[in-house]
Amino acid sequence: MSTLFTKIINREIPASIVYETDKVIAFNDINPQAPVHILVVPKKEIPTLNDIERKDCEYLMEMYDAVKQITKDLNVAEDGYRIITNCNSHGGQEVYHLHFHILAGEHLGPMRS
Ligand code: IMP
Repeated sequence: MSTLFTKIINREIPASIVYETDKVIAFNDINPQAPVHILVVPKKEIPTLNDIERKDCEYLMEMYDAVKQITKDLNVAEDGYRIITNCNSHGGQEVYHLHFHILAGEHLGPMRS
């Protein structure tokens, strides 16, 4: 089922887009949890990490390419960053369209602080 991320991909709702290819889009999170908080989203509607199939590998590679390019462009690659994918309810997933969160721009501390 489509989510608001498909609406962002289709330009039906606005977003602050920072990167786009034919397979991937990335935009600023509306509720940032760090100075840099960007969502990297495949243009294929894959609901959760559990739904990834081997045939999706090109989308996944492009998501990692996006992370590398965006963090380089924002000058945070060298200091470092964190990539998070939440999966289903215990993982805290709110939008059921696979995505990476890129968090950067400060020392993020331990995972459970
Ligand atoms: P999840 O909890 O891993 O599914 O993350 C969903 C993310 O989408 C949250 O960090 C939200 O702040 C973010 N989000 C929700 N609506 C929008 C929007 O319209 N634009 C950008 N980010 C959004």
